[in-house]
Amino acid sequence: MSFRVGQGFDIHRLVADRPFVLGGLTIPFEKGPLGHSDGDVVLHALTDALLGAAGLGDIGEWFPPSDPKWKDANSADLLIHVWKAVTQAGWSLVNADMTVLLEAPKLAAYKAPMKAKIAALLGIPENKLALKAKTMEQLGPIGEGQALAAMVTVLLEQV
Ligand code: MG
Repeated sequence: MSFRVGQGFDIHRLVADRPFVLGGLTIPFEKGPLGHSDGDVVLHALTDALLGAAGLGDIGEWFPPSDPKWKDANSADLLIHVWKAVTQAGWSLVNADMTVLLEAPKLAAYKAPMKAKIAALLGIPENKLALKAKTMEQLGPIGEGQALAAMVTVLLEQV
């Protein structure tokens, strides 16, 4: 049996008149992530962590911003696309630990539904997923509400 760890990071600007999409959910808020896709930092960081652990490149190589095919892409579809390749290579997920960095909105009520959504997308039990939220104590662009970010670590095993 072999194990591989992977890390992923993503950050997007928060701007008016965009839906706030995070962890596969659309949450009511006055701003949303600006991006070529829906700007879902949790799913993007998770996708990159899976690719990193499996040694399959990065999200920018898989879904180039220059490719109109992926314009306004649903990040859940990108994650599923990558997850298929990772599982076809023989990997399964031991666990994923996800941290969201943002000032607002408060995520307390959304963490459980986000985990359920991501578990359903991957077809795995929810207890393999951890989701944490942190503010930046009003420091820097994230702390000032101009951006949000996510960091994800995954462990894969290959039987
Ligand atoms: Mg992104």
